[in-house]
Formats: sequence, C-alpha cells, structure tokens
Amino acid sequence: MKNYLIKICFVLLGLNLYGQSSINVGKTIRVNYHFMLKSDGTGNFNEVTDGDGRLFSGYDWAQKQVLQMNQQSDQNIQMKIPLGNTLPVLNKNYNYVLDAVYFWRDDNTFYYSQAENAYTIYGQNKGSVMNVIIAETTGSTGVGGAANSTAIAIPITGVLHKYIKMQNEWDAYLDQWNTLGYFLGWAQALTTSHEFGHLLGLNHTVLYGNGVACPVGCPLPGYTYVQGPIVSSCGDNIVDTPTAWDITSSNNCTEHPGIFNAATNGLYFSNNLMDYSNNLGLSPNQIEYIHNGLELGNRAFTSCNAVANDLTLCDVGYPKVSYFGKNILVGNCGTLADITNREIINIYYSQSVVLNNIEIRADSQLEIIFEPVCSF
Ligand SMILES: [Zn+2]
Repeated sequence: MKNYLIKICFVLLGLNLYGQSSINVGKTIRVNYHFMLKSDGTGNFNEVTDGDGRLFSGYDWAQKQVLQMNQQSDQNIQMKIPLGNTLPVLNKNYNYVLDAVYFWRDDNTFYYSQAENAYTIYGQNKGSVMNVIIAETTGSTGVGGAANSTAIAIPITGVLHKYIKMQNEWDAYLDQWNTLGYFLGWAQALTTSHEFGHLLGLNHTVLYGNGVACPVGCPLPGYTYVQGPIVSSCGDNIVDTPTAWDITSSNNCTEHPGIFNAATNGLYFSNNLMDYSNNLGLSPNQIEYIHNGLELGNRAFTSCNAVANDLTLCDVGYPKVSYFGKNILVGNCGTLADITNREIINIYYSQSVVLNNIEIRADSQLEIIFEPVCSF
C-alpha cells in the first residue's frame, strides 16, 4: 500500500517530573541510528549504498532524516482543534543531533518484531543517547513505529532506556524512487518525530496509552472500539489539547479525530504531532512538558549535558558522527587521526579543542562547534 502511514504505538512512558522549565532555552537531543541488515548484508541501507545500488548510504539517509526532523521542530502551526482556539503558536525550541550510525548484520535481529532484542544487544550509549532501530516487516510497506522508555529484555540497572523502532523506512525509500524517481522523505521523518514525541513524554492527544482510541459513545461505523461507554476525560492529561470527547460531542458524533486519518480532510482533522494526523503542531503545554522533561529526567540525553566532561581521542570517525566534550584532545597518540571516505564529523566543545596529527581528506568534512553547558 503506497504512502500509507500507519503508526502502531505501544508506549511505555518514562516518568518525567513536571515543574518549572525554560522553554525559551533551546535543547538538543542526542540520537543514534541502527540499520538492521540480514546476516548477508542485504535488506537495508549499508555503510556505502542504499542497498539498491545507489551511492546513498545509511549515514546519508540518517543525516537527512535528522535534518528533516529538525526542520519540523523549527516549525509550529495553529492547532486546528479545539475548534476556534486562540492558543499561542510557540517555538518548540528543541531539536536533534546525530550521534552515531551503526549497521548490524544479524538474521536474529533483522525484523521489526525483533527490535527489542536489537536494542538490548546492539543499543549504544544507553541512558545518554536515544536509540533508533530501523528494521523491516515482511508483507507490509507501511512506515510505522513505536516508542519505548522502559521495557527491554535485559535491563541495565540505573539507566533510563529510550529507544524507538521504525518499520519499513527502507521500503518507503525504495518505493519513492520507484514511483517518484527521487527521495522525498518528509512523511517518514514526521513519523519518527512523532515517536520521539513519546520518548520526550507526550502521549496521543485523543488516544490514550497503547493506541486504544478513547471511547466516546458514538456509533461510528467500523470503529466499534470507540463506541462507548463515554469517558469524557480520556486523553493525554495535557490541558490545552483536546480530548476525544471534546471533539466528538461538538460534531454530533460524526467523526472521531484520532482514528488514523479517518478525519484527515474533515473539519475536525487534528494537525497535532501527537495525533495520527501526520502533521507537526504542538500546543504550549506540550512544548512545556517536553522542556520540563529535558531539564529533569531526560536531561542526560541533551547535548549540553554531554559537553561537561573532558574527552581524549586517538582518532575520530564513523560510526561516530558527533563528539561531545569540555576540553577535547584529538590525535595525540602517535598515529594519524584521519577523516576519510566521505565521513562528515562534528565536534561539540564547551571549553577547548586541540587537534594534533590529524588529516582531513578532500571528500570529507570536520566541523567544530561551540556548545555551552546546560544553563538549566
Ligand atoms: Zn504514537
């Protein structure tokens, strides 16, 4: 089914304390990507190509998706529901930085259904980087995902686990080449942004928890699971987003705004990132909730938190894309530190960077970026 987006969201939210936050202080979240390949190296992007003959690697794809997610974070729109609302459209002030990209060749973790094991076995920097598992599902081409903040097969004590699993991103990429002749990628990035919304503490605005629609007592054909009994409070527990009851009671039970894209073109279509609408709006309280989390329980995942300690490296390069430290020393090991083979590397520092004995080739890039430690 082309371009059909389905999100299967099974959400186990981590506990974020809700308190004062500085929503005007920008915050950056470290993310890494894991491409799950078959043991023979097929079935997904790899280190060099898109797995289908084009010189567009998993590194390139991940960079592009993170860029698009950041473009989505740079925008906000007036929420369409509640109808007639005059809520301010605030800057979101959070974005993402790509920490690293990994490729794993293992038939036992190739499929989306095996993603929890993939995270358990191959997850990196758990507790300080949010991990993204890119996997495939047979018999389906719909892009979808799920977010998980707590449950893994083998817990590591004291570490807050934050990972999302995405299915069929590779299929959707190939499908765009086949149908459009180019790669757009926008819709897939929105789906990933939605899943990160869960990791950042948000629930669906009109569905609750594990994806069961809030019951509203309406006789909606085909959607028996929302027919009742009425639970008028069912929602995300954020006061300025609508409950399902708010909407369906005002439209005489003709549309439930949270059921996939059933109401996409209707008056009651929700354009909130945390609905199934595939749009990017966030309410003021949702933004505040995200910032609260990043200042408290999710603080360990911010880049400003990662530049608080000194870092010494013999070499820099893939699979790491970004390095973070206070005083950073590179290449002081007697061997040449080199950036080659189309590597694009970023170094974020809060105090100083010393580069010794380092070579950067013409096809590669190094960017050194000042990043102050967290002010919150
Ligand atoms: Zn969701």
